[in-house]
Amino acid sequence: MKRILFKTEITKRSRKIIYMDHAATTPVAEEVIETMNPYFGEVYGNASSLHVFGQNAKKVLEESRQKIAELIGAESSEIYFTSGGTEADNAALKGIAFANKYKGNHIITTKIEHDAVLKTCDYLGTKGFEITKLDVDETGLVDIEDLKNAITDKTILVSIMHANNEIGTIQNIAEIGKICREHGVYFHTDAVQTFGKIPIDVNGMNIDLLSASSHKIYGPKGVGCLFVRNGVNIETFIHGGGHEHGKRSGTENVAGIVGFGKAAEIAKRDMENEYMRLSNLRDKLIEGIFRIPGTKLNGHCEQRLPNNVNISFKHIEGEGLVLRLDDKGIAASTGSACSSYSLEPSHVLLAIGLEHGDAHGSLRLTLGKQNTKEDVNYVLRVLPGVVNGLREISPFKLKVGI
Ligand code: PLP
Repeated sequence: MKRILFKTEITKRSRKIIYMDHAATTPVAEEVIETMNPYFGEVYGNASSLHVFGQNAKKVLEESRQKIAELIGAESSEIYFTSGGTEADNAALKGIAFANKYKGNHIITTKIEHDAVLKTCDYLGTKGFEITKLDVDETGLVDIEDLKNAITDKTILVSIMHANNEIGTIQNIAEIGKICREHGVYFHTDAVQTFGKIPIDVNGMNIDLLSASSHKIYGPKGVGCLFVRNGVNIETFIHGGGHEHGKRSGTENVAGIVGFGKAAEIAKRDMENEYMRLSNLRDKLIEGIFRIPGTKLNGHCEQRLPNNVNISFKHIEGEGLVLRLDDKGIAASTGSACSSYSLEPSHVLLAIGLEHGDAHGSLRLTLGKQNTKEDVNYVLRVLPGVVNGLREISPFKLKVGI
C-alpha cells in the first residue's frame, strides 16, 4: 500500500511544529494532490461541454460523486457538490425552510451547532420561521425526550450536528433520525466533523440531508457536499445554468471535486485503523493531561470523536495558553475567545454548563494522520510547565489544590 506523506511538521522560527488542530483543517494528502494535479493542466474541460474535454471532466466528476456517496451509503444522484460545509448547511436549512413553508414554519436545532447552522437559523428567524434551540446536557448530548416534546405540527425540519467540532461529543443520530421519520419531519445533520472519520449510513440512520466538507479529511479547501435524499422537497441553492441537477449552478470545481473524491476514498480505506490509532493517542493525551491539577475534560467520555481532546484548566486564559504552546512548537486551539473576534467564551462550552472562567481556560487538541506517540509525549512534557507558568501570573493568584 502506498504510504501517504504529509508536509505537516512545518518549520517555524527554525523549530519543528506539531500540528494538533485537525478539527480546524487538515493538510492535503500527497496522494490527493497527485490525483488533482492533471485537472489543473491537461484535463481542463468544462464538465458541461459536449466535446471530449467536457466528457473527461464529467466522467471524473461522477466518479468522485460515487466515492462520496459510498462513504455514507447514499446514491450518487443524492450528492450535490458545494463550496464546503458552510454552504451545505446554508443550502439545507434555507432550502428546506423556503420549499416547505406551506407545511409549517418551525425548525428545531441545538445550542451547540456550528455558526453555519446557528446563524442561518437566526436569519430564518427574521423571515417568519420559528426556531427552537434545544439545550444539551453537561456532556453535550441532546435529550431525546426534549426533542420529542419540541416537535409540533408546524415543525418541518430538525437540524442536529453529528459530532461537535469543539468538544467532540457524538450525538445519538440514529435515534434522532428515527424520531424525525416517525413524526414526518425532515432531518438534517451537519457531519463535517464525522464524515470519513466514523461510519455513517444515511439509510440506517434515517438522515434526509447531510453536510460534509473536504478540507477536514485531507482534501482541498473550498469543496464540500450536501446529501439530499431523493424525493426531499428542497429549493434551488444557486440559480444559473442548471448544474448539479439544477440545484446548484456554476461551473464545477473539477480539480477540487476530484481531490474530495480521492480524500473520501482514502478515508474509507483507512477509517478503521485510524479510528483505533487516534483514539489510543487521544486517551493517552487525556490521561496525561489529567495529572495536571485543576483540569476538567469537556465533552462526553465515550461518545467522542477519536481525535478530540478538550480540557479546561482552572485560573488560566485559553488564548495565552495557545500562544505559549505555539512558542513551544505546538499548534492547538481554544474555545475561549476571539473565534468571532468577541470576548465571549464559546457558546458550546457555555451550553454544557461551564462557568465563564472555565470556558475561558479551555484547550482543544485535535489529532490527525501525522501525529505520533512521540508528539503526544512532547505535549505531555511541555504542557504542565506552560499551565503552571500561566497560573503563576494569573490575576486570580490562586494555587490550585491549596
Ligand atoms: N460545521 C462544522 C461542525 C464545522 O466544524 C465546520 C468547520 O469548522 C463547518 C461546519 C464549516 O465547514 P467549511 O469550513 O467547509 O465551510
